[in-house]
Amino acid sequence: MTGGTRPPAEPSAAGGMMRQMNNQIYPAAAGGASHPDAVQMPGAAASSPAGLPGPAHVLDPSAGLEEWLAARGQPAWRAKAIRRWLFAGRAATFADMTDLPKELRTALEERFLIFSTRIARHVHAEDGTEKLLLELADGQRIECVLLREHAREVSDAAGGGRLTVCISSQVGCGMGCVFCASGLDGVIRNLTTGEILEQLLRLQKLLPAEERLSHIVVMGMGEPLANLDRLMPALATAQHADGLGISQRRITISTVGLPKAIDRLTAENPGYHLAVSLHAAEDALRTRLVPVNKAIGLAEVMAAADRYWEASGRRLTFEYVLLGGVNDAPEDAARLVRLLGRRAALVNVIPYNSVAGLPWREPSKAAQARFLDVLRAAGVNVQVRRRKGARIDAACGQLRRLESASAGPAVPATSPASPGGTRPAE
Ligand code: SAH
Repeated sequence: MTGGTRPPAEPSAAGGMMRQMNNQIYPAAAGGASHPDAVQMPGAAASSPAGLPGPAHVLDPSAGLEEWLAARGQPAWRAKAIRRWLFAGRAATFADMTDLPKELRTALEERFLIFSTRIARHVHAEDGTEKLLLELADGQRIECVLLREHAREVSDAAGGGRLTVCISSQVGCGMGCVFCASGLDGVIRNLTTGEILEQLLRLQKLLPAEERLSHIVVMGMGEPLANLDRLMPALATAQHADGLGISQRRITISTVGLPKAIDRLTAENPGYHLAVSLHAAEDALRTRLVPVNKAIGLAEVMAAADRYWEASGRRLTFEYVLLGGVNDAPEDAARLVRLLGRRAALVNVIPYNSVAGLPWREPSKAAQARFLDVLRAAGVNVQVRRRKGARIDAACGQLRRLESASAGPAVPATSPASPGGTRPAE
């Protein structure tokens, strides 16, 4: 199996930069499951700050905010009030939560963290895309992106634009897709629920007070379905009225296609918009591009996607990264048409966004047009993912690699960049 952990090559950026506020050091996940679909990886330990010395992330269920409040004789609604302060009130500290008793605020401050990460880099593109490189308490780095999509770019039911955030679910990725920057060094660990939610808080803080996040896409670093235990509570909080109030249908989970985990989602919570990354419509090519396919196979992926669709009733999306000269021929498109058959699906075609050091190239304009023509002529719903923030390396995983390659100290600065290409825009 190829989805296992490759040795982390990233030099630990932690050094003296690690924040002292959290003593928790996460074990680097070793080894991998014997089957890529055996999903939950050993980094699970990363989500249990409770019981460890030092502050725990207030939004992480394992930090036990509710229990802690109860032990202090505080009413249960205080937890909601705190969440409301964090999400709607955009509070940066417990001291900002002015309607809480003062002693409680002080005790919260001593026990819990609101921000366990620090912004190692903040990059802007002219098209409004902003990307944060976050350094976690253990020195690992992840990326998250804010995408501003104007009304003319999206056909939103409300007629307005979208403020979409693209968040990461793991440090690195174990799926090994050969063209993707996130997985080049394998998976290092799962993100905790608190770390997933913190990305939302951080990105929301980039907005003026009157603007609200409208959509979430879990399309950043990592394989979300390999970290469902921690992702689900995070997305549930994001939906709550005292969270971000973002409805499930505005949340997209993008997966490489792990059938067992898709089935779990089908059984537990089929309301999310599911996007399945195909990239090829026959097994030999898919296995070359998406190595975990070897142990799974397209038929299983499609069958699990169908079961999800039956349970959710919501149109599925299939993602297809177009790699020049590799999977962009009209025959590849014709194969995709046959694979999709009568499914009411949307195909999200993503022209490859080059990753330094990798041999793949972007598809030519002519090849893209031919590929799309074949799909459209067959009546397939197609969307070409708009290019956003390319110059800021907005394809998740790229900024982190650049930073670790230069291995310089993190710059808490803002670098202007101009717009260009990349994903995502569900
Ligand atoms: N693990 C999930 C999320 C990955 S990121 C998944 O596989 O779906 C979301 C999408 O971006 C995936 O379809 C992924 O294959 C694609 N992607 C990764 N690197 C890319 C690149 N350099 N250019 C274009 N798309 C890329």
